[in-house]
Amino acid sequence: MSIPNHDFLQFTLAQPEKASASEYIFPYGTAFIEGRGILRLEPSEQAQHSVVLSAGIHGNETAPIELLNALVAQLLTGELALSVRLLIIFGHPQAMVQSERFCDVNLNRLFCGAWQRYQGMEVARAQLLEQTVSDFFEQHQQGEKYHYDLHTAIRGSQYEKFAVHPFTNGAAYQKQQFAFYDAIGLEAVLLSHQATTTFSYYSYAHHGAQAATVELGQVRPFGDNDLSKLTQLEQALKELLVEANLAQGQAQQVRLYEVVDVLTKDADDYRLNIAADEKNFTAFSKGFELARSSKSCYQIQQNNDAIVFPNTKLPIGQRSGLVVRAKDWATLKTI
Ligand SMILES: [Zn+2]
Repeated sequence: MSIPNHDFLQFTLAQPEKASASEYIFPYGTAFIEGRGILRLEPSEQAQHSVVLSAGIHGNETAPIELLNALVAQLLTGELALSVRLLIIFGHPQAMVQSERFCDVNLNRLFCGAWQRYQGMEVARAQLLEQTVSDFFEQHQQGEKYHYDLHTAIRGSQYEKFAVHPFTNGAAYQKQQFAFYDAIGLEAVLLSHQATTTFSYYSYAHHGAQAATVELGQVRPFGDNDLSKLTQLEQALKELLVEANLAQGQAQQVRLYEVVDVLTKDADDYRLNIAADEKNFTAFSKGFELARSSKSCYQIQQNNDAIVFPNTKLPIGQRSGLVVRAKDWATLKTI
C-alpha cells in the first residue's frame, strides 16, 4: 500500500491507531510505513547518515508537521533525491486529529523510560516511539546520527526561533551543531542543565545522536501557517537529506542561555506575576517577585534573568517555567 497523493499527513490523520505496516518502492529507495505517523525511508544507494525528523509530539504544533509533509512528498515523487537514512515521525496523531497539545499527559515528558511512571493514552505512544528510534539507530552502520524534534511554542518569544540543546554533563559542545542552528535561522539556544525526559534527549542520551528540540514560532491551526518563515530550515533540511551535509552558518551568531532555576507549581494558588501573553525570554530586574504561592515565593536573582516556557495550567508538582540567564560564548567549551 502506498501513500495516496504522497500526502503522509492526510494518510496519518485517516489511519487507525493500530495501523498495519507496509512497504513500497519510491524513486530513490524503499518506504516503510511502520505505524501511524511513522515513515522510514531507506535510500537504494549506500547511506552516509541516519536522520530522525519529528514533529507533532504536541498535536497542535502544525507548522513543522506541514513542513515535513512537504519534504516527504518531494522525496516520494523523486523531486528530491535521498542520500541519508530517514525516519519521519508525526508524534501524536490522535492529538493532531483533535487539534490538542496532548490528550491525557504531555508526551514530551514521557521519554527515557519516564512513561513507566505515568498513566494515559500517551504512555503506549512514548514506548513505541522510543522503540522505533532505537531500532532505527541500531541498524545504523556508519556516519552521523541526527535527531531534530520540531515544535512551535504556546506563546510568543523575544527570539522567534530557538533550540533547547541536550544536557552534556560536562562534555564539550559540538560547534558544528551551533553553526547548523544559525543556518536554520535560530536566534538563541537554551542549554539544558540536567537530564530530561524529552524525545530529543532520548536520542542524545541513548544513541549519541546530535539532537535538539527546535522551537519554530507560535502554535497555529493546520493551513494557517506561513511556511515562508521556515525557508532557511527547509533549505538546510534539503541539504541534509539530499547531500548528506549539515548546513553551516556562524555559530557565534546564536545567543546562548543557560538554565539557572526550574520553577515548579507547588500549590493550587500558585501564580506567576507576568502577563498572560508574556513572551518567552522576557527579562526581569533583580528582586522582582516572579512567582508566589501559599507555600513559596521566587524572586529574580540577577538583572536580566529571563523566563522561558511559563505555564501554570498544569498539575501540582509539574514544571511551571524555566529561569534562564545569557551566557558568554567565551565560557562555552566546544570542539
Ligand atoms: Zn511542543
